[in-house]
Amino acid sequence: MREGTGPAKACIHPAMTTTLLGLGPAAFKAALIDAGVAEKHAAMRRDQLWNWIYVRGARDFGAMTNLSKNLRTMLAERFTVARPEVVTEQISADGTRKWLLRTGPGIEFETVYIPEPDRGTLCVSSQVGCTLNCRFCHTGTQKLVRNLTPEEIVGQLLVAKDSLGDWPSTAPNRRVTNIVLMGMGEPLYNFDNVRSAMEIAASSGGMAFSRRRITLSTAGVVPMIPRAGHEIGSSLAISLHAVRDDIRDVIVPLNKKYKIAELLQACREYPTLSNARRITYEYVMLKGVNDSLAEARELVKLLKGIPAKINLIPFNPWPGAPYECSDWTQIEKFAEIVNRAGYASPIRTPRGRDIMAACGQLKSESIKLKAKERMAEMESAALARMPS
Ligand code: SAH
Repeated sequence: MREGTGPAKACIHPAMTTTLLGLGPAAFKAALIDAGVAEKHAAMRRDQLWNWIYVRGARDFGAMTNLSKNLRTMLAERFTVARPEVVTEQISADGTRKWLLRTGPGIEFETVYIPEPDRGTLCVSSQVGCTLNCRFCHTGTQKLVRNLTPEEIVGQLLVAKDSLGDWPSTAPNRRVTNIVLMGMGEPLYNFDNVRSAMEIAASSGGMAFSRRRITLSTAGVVPMIPRAGHEIGSSLAISLHAVRDDIRDVIVPLNKKYKIAELLQACREYPTLSNARRITYEYVMLKGVNDSLAEARELVKLLKGIPAKINLIPFNPWPGAPYECSDWTQIEKFAEIVNRAGYASPIRTPRGRDIMAACGQLKSESIKLKAKERMAEMESAALARMPS
């Protein structure tokens, strides 16, 4: 095999390796050509590598036995398929797993796997930190550090599949069947990278996730919602959490920009919407804030005519949180009204409580700020979140 052994590029320092993870098919092929693979072979080589990486889960080029030794050596010199570093992996008594991953100084993000009898869902982060400052969300107390790259988003899937032994992707009983973009960050503020990563996740010659099993959760970045439907083709979840603008303005400050009526209009027009592909509305139960039975009735009225699922989420408290979880009896009464209106509204049972699997919590722990610094940070975050 002559490809990839061009003399000018033969000797590359290992530190100069670039990752193949997160490259779309065209960029992947271009990278191979750039490395010296003959143009006429590049598409075939790309497809072979794609299969090794995304179907079989190969972690190094040495294992790719249908490639010539020369080619494998060249690939190993120039490229890597290394995953993000696993800082911690925690496994809950209920099977929930949580990873804290790291790709650089201060670039830490988490991924959570939630097994259920009929599916396995991976909750993926899209940003390090968040700009939205939802008052009940712990990630909101952390400044946005940056958007995650396609490689880092895809890396979360690979780490989870490695840990679960979930290879090959073509196996009949896959452990990760669903992806929810519901971890840290606002996916619609990192649209291009999320779209590229989901392109790779859904690729039929790769991990082959069905797009209807990919759910993008947004706090309501209204102008981007149609694009999510057209360009990602994912299912949609809306972090609604309130039925009145005055309350939502406080708990989801993005509401000051995009009001509930506008948000629901974008939902009605969502491209993939049908009875078979309903929109999920997340509603976190905050004691005395949004949990009255009048609000349950209002919720049902608001969603009339939109094929919807309603997820009532018991608030997961964190140190210093300004809210408490609604009483269980109140959640049940609230759910009953929603159920009677014809919505199956499972109260999402808290999973992985023993490993603090709720959003943002592991990341915050890992920061290990001194108490004083933490206080100062929380104070400024609280100030930033004060309604203007
Ligand atoms: N920015 C996106 C995705 C991240 S939040 C969005 O807002 O949808 C993912 C989900 O977790 C949201 O529904 C959010 O409201 C919920 N959530 C965040 N903190 C929570 C907490 N402490 N308890 C319960 N649910 C929480």
